[in-house]
Amino acid sequence: MTITSYNPADPTDLVVAVEEPGAEAVRAAVGRARAAQGEWLAAGAGARSAALGRIAEAVEAHAEELAALIVREVGKPLAEARGEVARTAAIWRYYAQAPYAPSGAVHETAAGPGLLLTRRRPYGVAGLITPWNFPLAIPTWKAAPALAVGNTVVLKPAPEATACALRLAELAQLPAEVFTVLPGGAEEGSALVDAVDVVSFTGSTGVGRAVVRAATERGVPVQAELGGLNAALVLPDADIALAAAHIAAAVAGYAGQKCTATSRVIAVGAAHEPLREALVKALAAVDDTVCGPVVNAAARERLTAAVASAVEAGASVLTGGGVPERAGWFIEPTLLADVPAEHPLAREEFFGPVAVLHAAADLDAAIALANDTPHSLATSVHTRSLDVALAAADRLDAGMVRVNAPSSGVDFHLPFGGTKGASHGEREQGQAALDFYTVGRTVSVLPGGGL
Ligand code: NAD
Repeated sequence: MTITSYNPADPTDLVVAVEEPGAEAVRAAVGRARAAQGEWLAAGAGARSAALGRIAEAVEAHAEELAALIVREVGKPLAEARGEVARTAAIWRYYAQAPYAPSGAVHETAAGPGLLLTRRRPYGVAGLITPWNFPLAIPTWKAAPALAVGNTVVLKPAPEATACALRLAELAQLPAEVFTVLPGGAEEGSALVDAVDVVSFTGSTGVGRAVVRAATERGVPVQAELGGLNAALVLPDADIALAAAHIAAAVAGYAGQKCTATSRVIAVGAAHEPLREALVKALAAVDDTVCGPVVNAAARERLTAAVASAVEAGASVLTGGGVPERAGWFIEPTLLADVPAEHPLAREEFFGPVAVLHAAADLDAAIALANDTPHSLATSVHTRSLDVALAAADRLDAGMVRVNAPSSGVDFHLPFGGTKGASHGEREQGQAALDFYTVGRTVSVLPGGGL
């Protein structure tokens, strides 16, 4: 079998084709990574810090080339692709400092002399499984902390983002057994979960649940960042034009293909009419520099079928809904109203530039509606009232709440993740990631025998 990835804006453009390595190759790569891990750890904080810093520099030196590759392979508009490259370099640089951070604490003994220590140690080989939508940033925000604390890494990227991951590995210039990128699909992903010492997965909810089950069965730590069904709450006191601009960016930016994209817009009370008007205008003005194509034909088919089925069930299309006459997997930014509460478009992640507008009588009703999903990843709240913003931040289930900002986008050094069914295990990014890739050891040094 061959793994291929195609340009979503020009499906005749084959970006890469590589032979699928198979499960045995995964096991062999993990074996090499395990053999190399002791040396990588023993090289010391200085060597690991320098290596990660060099990767940041290499990414920056090839920024335009990498941005162009992201555009070509996964259809991300250029401005966002450039932003992803800059974020990627920043993440490598941020974690380049981590090897020098304290790795434990000293405690007092309960009685008698002694030195009680806690230390964080790496697990061994980290197995990373990533989606296609952030083809450099997500592999980086897993690999950089895992490597910083002394694990070796085997990364299996999404097939649709194979070329980006392979280029990242080339630029990293680490020994292959320290940082291996192994292209593949479900077979390789599942073989990786069965072989490594710690698993980090980002992708769809169904696949993620299976990965969590398999890793848990083996007794290895696992984190999974899964799909979101993200809401934007707009209060009547909000700057409606600004809220509409933020929400349009969160619905249609990169064709809605972000786990934190907004797919439910909840207008509170008197915000409904003006927001509806402003949002229709803002979405109709979105162009290719913001939206871009969806990743493949199947994704577009799934989206257009869902919109058609919602309309059949009584929904009205406020803007969009169509498919432009052109090459590539484009779909118009779309806003629907009157979608029945149980329709899949109101309840599941569709990963496209499509949102549903709801009306809520008051803040309580809006929060109840926003929380009525297992996929509680990110929610935005649009208001001028600090009281309302704080109340919403307290009462929303979402793992990430953003006030007067799009639901998508969180700084690269903050903990990243959702609640309920949107995440499993430790948060990603920041200190949380360093904790995830290490395990605590308690060391008791008791001079004089302590018997
Ligand atoms: P996907 O679940 O189809 O694939 C994710 C990865 O899992 C790929 O590398 C794939 O090859 C691999 N895989 C597939 N079957 C497997 C198996 N049986 N065992 C092990 N690995 C397997 O997801 P996708 O289409 O690449 O990405 C889109 C999804 O990712 C969306 O649901 C989106 O919300 C989610 N996502 C979540 C976050 C987050 O942080 N919460 C971030 C980005 C994307």
